[in-house]
Amino acid sequence: MRPFEHFTPDTLEEAISLLKEYNGKAKLIAGGTVLIPALKEEIYPEYPKALINIKEIPGLSFIEEEEETIKIGALTRLEEIVRSGKLEKYPLLKKAASSVGTPQIRNMGTIGGNLCQDVRCWYYWYPHRIGGRLTCYLKGGDICYALIGENHYHSIFGSYKYPDRPSPCQNACPAHTDIPSILEKLREGRIDEAARILLETNPLSPISGRICPHFCEDRCSRKMLDEPLAIREVERFLGDYILENFSKLLPSPDKKSGKKVAIVGSGPAGLTAAYYLKKSGHQVVIFERKNEPGGLLRYGIPPSQLDKEIVKKLIKTLENHLGLEFKLKIQLGKDVNLEDLSAQYDAVLLATGAPRKKETFTQYKTVLSNEKNLREKKRPSSHHVEKNVFAAGDLVNGPSTVVEAIASAKMAVALINRFLLGELAQESPSSQKVLYPVNVKAFKRMGRFGDFKREAERCFNCGCVAVNPSDMAVALMALGAKLKILSPNGTRVIPIEEFFTSVRGDLASDEILTEILIPKEVSNLPQVFLKFRLRNAVDFSIVSVGVWAELKGNVVKKIRIALGGAAPVPLRVREVESWLEGKKLEDQLIEEAAKMAVKEALPLPKNAYKVEITKVMLKRALASFKGN
Ligand SMILES: Cc1cc2nc3c(=O)[nH]c(=O)nc-3n(C[C@H](O)[C@H](O)[C@H](O)COP(=O)(O)OP(=O)(O)OC[C@H]3O[C@@H](n4cnc5c(N)ncnc54)[C@H](O)[C@@H]3O)c2cc1C
Ligand code: SF4
Ligand code: SF4
Repeated sequence: MRPFEHFTPDTLEEAISLLKEYNGKAKLIAGGTVLIPALKEEIYPEYPKALINIKEIPGLSFIEEEEETIKIGALTRLEEIVRSGKLEKYPLLKKAASSVGTPQIRNMGTIGGNLCQDVRCWYYWYPHRIGGRLTCYLKGGDICYALIGENHYHSIFGSYKYPDRPSPCQNACPAHTDIPSILEKLREGRIDEAARILLETNPLSPISGRICPHFCEDRCSRKMLDEPLAIREVERFLGDYILENFSKLLPSPDKKSGKKVAIVGSGPAGLTAAYYLKKSGHQVVIFERKNEPGGLLRYGIPPSQLDKEIVKKLIKTLENHLGLEFKLKIQLGKDVNLEDLSAQYDAVLLATGAPRKKETFTQYKTVLSNEKNLREKKRPSSHHVEKNVFAAGDLVNGPSTVVEAIASAKMAVALINRFLLGELAQESPSSQKVLYPVNVKAFKRMGRFGDFKREAERCFNCGCVAVNPSDMAVALMALGAKLKILSPNGTRVIPIEEFFTSVRGDLASDEILTEILIPKEVSNLPQVFLKFRLRNAVDFSIVSVGVWAELKGNVVKKIRIALGGAAPVPLRVREVESWLEGKKLEDQLIEEAAKMAVKEALPLPKNAYKVEITKVMLKRALASFKGN
C-alpha cells in the first residue's frame, strides 16, 4: 500500500471536520473489508491522502428498540445483526446479513460500510499492478468497458449516469448537447422532441451540423465495437428540420423582462447569445460593423465548407421568429463607444471575435485591461469584463470553433441573466431520473451508415451498467428504512430510496452515515429474503429479492418488493406491488407478477439469464407467503 495519513477521531464532529479539511481526498474506514483491498490493488485513480478510522467513535455500534422504530448504528457489524435477539422479528434483515460473504467478512464488515461499498464490476476492480488500472466511466473516464465486454453480472435494468457528465459524447461536446437523449427520441420516431432537445443547447445546429469538428464522435464508445456514431450527420439532419419547422418547435417568446441588452458582433457567439437572451425575455439589439450579419459564418468560413444560403436562412429565421433587431454598419469605437452602450443598455455583450490586431482593443479601453484574462481562461468568470459588460466567443477563447463559441455564449448569457434577474435566473433542478435505458439492440456490428435512423439505432445510450452489490440495501429497501446522515451542515434523515439515486449511494465527501431507522410496523408480518449466487460461501448476489406481505386469508393487503443485483440501484418494483394488492395470491397471479417485474428488463449481450433468475426468485418469494 502507498503511504497515507491515518486519523482515529474520538467524535463524529472531529471526523466531519477532517473530511472537510481533506476536501474529497480522505476516505472513511469502518471494518475495512472493502476499502483495504481497494487500496492494496490501487484501483482508485487518485490515492486517498488520508484514512479516517471511525471505528473508535463511541455510540455508533448499537441496535436499539424505540416505540416506532428499530435503530441500528452504522458501525454495527453484520454478524451482530445476524445474532441480535432484538431483530428476531426482522428475518428479512437477518437473512440478508447472514448471506454476506464469509463469517470473517461479517465479523469485520459493518452495515454502514455495506451500504456505502463500491460496485464489484471487474473492470472497476482491475488491479493497477497488472498493466495499469482501467479508468472506466465510473472512475472518471469515458468508456464503460462492460457495455460491450464481460457483462455477465451487470445490470438488466439500464445504466447509471452522472448528472454532471452523462455520457462520453455529451461530455466531449463543448455545448453539452444531450446526444443520447436526442438519439433515444429518434429511435422512438419522435423527431420534434429530438429537435427540441437539440434546440435547448444549440440554436445553430444547421451550421454546427455541417462544420463542427465533432469532438463527440472522437469519444463515442461505439468505436470499441465498430465505428463511432456519425453524430454530426444526425445533427445536420435535425438542424435542417429545425430550420423548416422553427415556429412549430419554438413558440415565440412571450416573456418580457423589461431589460435591454446590446450585443456587439453577430457571429455565432452573438447570434447564440441573442437567442438565449430573447428566450429569457430581454430586448436585444445586435450591432454589426459589416453590411450583413453572420460574422465569421458569413465572411470567414469559405462557401465550399458552409453554404451561405443556410447561414442567411438561419439568421432570417432567428430575426423573424425571435424579433431580433440588427443595427448594421455600426462599428464599436468608431460609430458608437462602449461607455455609451453601457450607459444606455442594462447589459452589453462583446462578441467581436478573436482580436487580430492590438488596435482593435485600444478602441475599448475597459476591455484592454482584461485582454490577458479574457484570452487565457475559458472559465465562466472570464466572460465578465466589468460592471455591466460581458464578453463571449473567440474574444474570450481565442480563435476556436463554432461550437465553442456557442458554449461560450451560453456561459455569458447565464452570467448576464444572473446579473439582470438575480434569483429569478436560477435554473430549474436537473431531472431526478435514476436509471437510463441501454439500447440493447445496438450491440450487433452494423458499421457506420449516414442515415439518422440507423445512427440512432447504433447508439448504446452509454452509462455505467454495474449493479449495486449491497444485500443489506435490498433488505432495508423492502423494510422501508430511513438513513441518518451527518454533514458539516447538520443531520438529514432520508428514505433509503433517496440515498440510492446513484450507484454508490448519495453521500457527499464530507458526510457520514450514522444510523439506520427501520419502521416497526412490519415486524409481525411474514418476510422473506432470497439470494441467488454461484458459490454460497463467498459470492455476491447475482439476483436477490426481499419481500414482506400483509395478507388476509390469501389476499394481499399490502406488499413491498425489492430486487438486488439487477440494476445500478436496489430496485423497488412498485408496479407489481400495487397490482398485487387486493388480489388472491395464487400460482397464476404469481406467474404474472414475475413477468411484470421484468417487463422493462433490457439484458446486455451476456446476461439475459438474469431475467429468468429474477422471475424464478420472485416467484419463490411470493409462493412462500401462500398459506401464511
Ligand atoms: C469476499 C467478499 C464477499 C462479499 N460478499 C458480499 C455479499 O454477498 N453481499 C454484500 O452485501 N456484501 C458483500 N461483501 C461486502 C461486505 O458486506 C462489505 O465488505 C462490508 O459490509 C463493508 O463494511 P466495512 O465496515 O468493512 O466497510 P469499509 O471497507 O470500511 O468501507 C466501505 C466503504 O464505505 C465507506 N464507509 C464505511 N462506513 C461508512 C459510514 N458510516 N459513512 C459513510 N461512508 C462509510 C468507506 O469509506 C468505504 O468507501 C463482500 C465483501 C467481500 C470482501
Ligand atoms: S459497469 Fe461501471 S464500473 Fe464497470 S466498467 Fe462500466 S462504468 Fe466501469
Ligand atoms: S454510443 Fe451513443 S451515448 Fe455512447 S458515446 Fe456514442 S453517441 Fe454517445
